[in-house]
Amino acid sequence: LATKVTIIGAGPAGYQAAIRAAQLGGRVTLVERAAVGGTCLHRGCIPTKALKATAEALARAKDLEQYGIRGGGDCAVDMTAVLERQARIVDTLTQGIEKLLQAHGVQVLQGHGRLEGPGRVSLAGEGGTQVIESDAVILASGSRPGDLPGLAADGELVLNSDHALALSQVPESLAVVGGGVVGCEFAMIMAGLGCRVTVIEALERLLPLPNIDPDLSKVLAREMKKRRIAVHTAKVVTKLERTGDGARLTLGPSPLVPGAKSKEAVVEAARVLVSVGRRLADDELGLERAGVARGEDGAVAVDSFLRTNLPGVWAVGDLLGPRRPMLAHVAGAEGVAAAAGALGLAETVSYQVVPSAIFTSPEVAAVGLGQAQAAELGYQARANVFQMRTLGRAQAGGEIAGFCKLVSDQDGRLLGAQIIGARATDLVAECALALKLGATVADLAGTMHAHPTLAEAVHEAAEDALGLGLHSMPPRRK
Ligand SMILES: Cc1cc2nc3c(=O)[nH]c(=O)nc-3n(C[C@H](O)[C@H](O)[C@H](O)COP(=O)(O)OP(=O)(O)OC[C@H]3O[C@@H](n4cnc5c(N)ncnc54)[C@H](O)[C@@H]3O)c2cc1C
Repeated sequence: LATKVTIIGAGPAGYQAAIRAAQLGGRVTLVERAAVGGTCLHRGCIPTKALKATAEALARAKDLEQYGIRGGGDCAVDMTAVLERQARIVDTLTQGIEKLLQAHGVQVLQGHGRLEGPGRVSLAGEGGTQVIESDAVILASGSRPGDLPGLAADGELVLNSDHALALSQVPESLAVVGGGVVGCEFAMIMAGLGCRVTVIEALERLLPLPNIDPDLSKVLAREMKKRRIAVHTAKVVTKLERTGDGARLTLGPSPLVPGAKSKEAVVEAARVLVSVGRRLADDELGLERAGVARGEDGAVAVDSFLRTNLPGVWAVGDLLGPRRPMLAHVAGAEGVAAAAGALGLAETVSYQVVPSAIFTSPEVAAVGLGQAQAAELGYQARANVFQMRTLGRAQAGGEIAGFCKLVSDQDGRLLGAQIIGARATDLVAECALALKLGATVADLAGTMHAHPTLAEAVHEAAEDALGLGLHSMPPRRK
């Protein structure tokens, strides 16, 4: 008899778990209370990238003369049309996932799922409540936007990322509280759409993530300045006052940065976007009653096979919180590993090679160790940087900001890559493969790269690591 698998949540973790479990011969039921695709497809990765495409198209349209085109008229954003485009893209992809699930024989049930115990899930849907019995259960309920005390989102003046994606008009000005990935992406998008943006970050730099080196944050801050985005780092919001047409935020020194300057600042904005991380969607899942154990961080505890303490119950994706990167591709990989586990195969996820893709303008991407991280871990690491502006393709495309940095150990083995520049989020894939295969900078330098492409930056940085960079300036002669 086929193994019965029930999955709660049809985000990237849950729907990919469902497909893999079906591929491995399982009889799969997928419980989802909203639409398949989860945060990623409906309120995250995809809608933000649709908006980014609009912001970038507008920037090009305003800059046509740079490309030798005269007569470009005044361009204006029609938010209704922008949101329609966003909805069409999301719809197409939602239907794609639905068809895939159907083709794999996955039964999708609409409603709220709750774990009742090992092998038992209750489903509260339109037709009432039913209990689904199965051999294995995979919990994949994901996350939702987090709130800041004193800055609770109301969807009007104070927004979270869900609200910001549904704005029917571009606000005249926006204060973004939180200069992490989501905050920086929105700051760039909204500025691109014509909004006056201010970013407030409690730590010392934008994108204050351990795997992103400070020199990338610096370039990003410079690029924000070029787009007239004001950036306040090492500051927190100490007061929010409602004004007639928006908010007045008082900023004070951040308690997270020892010795942060005490000068107060005031920011006025029509809207405030709070982007300070995610809350786990674990409160209505029946975890406590079912006896699912939590780790010290409060999130569901799992072993390296993503098994919870309850027999036959796995947990995957954003539900596991920030102890691992809260990214769609990580969630998907965990879903796939849990599905294999549910079907009797032992699979783990390697968190060593997780590419980060940050869709600012220019984009930021990283994989493996940053230079600072490698040094902290005691590596005799070296870093070789190649500037994008040196590349023919970057000049021809009019996208010259940024660089590619390769971090390698004393034997030349690649430890990580840090890229800021156009298409960085695509360029990082090559470095991820190199890292996965244990490649050296010599392997990368010895691989022919097509010309003229942005990927030549990786090749050039690798050649530079060998002291043989053909387009890097040689060390000064004594
Ligand atoms: C603005 C924004 C931009 C982002 N951009 C990127 C990006 O560019 N790249 C990237 O990798 N990641 C990005 N992310 C993160 C990414 O969206 C998440 O990491 C990913 O969606 C997590 O997948 P998941 O399946 O674990 O959870 P979710 O995608 O949150 O899916 C969980 C699903 O479970 C359902 N559910 C919850 N509880 C129940 C229940 N009790 N019963 C039934 N159904 C339930 C929910 O309705 C939801 O559909 C972004 C996130 C945001 C907010």
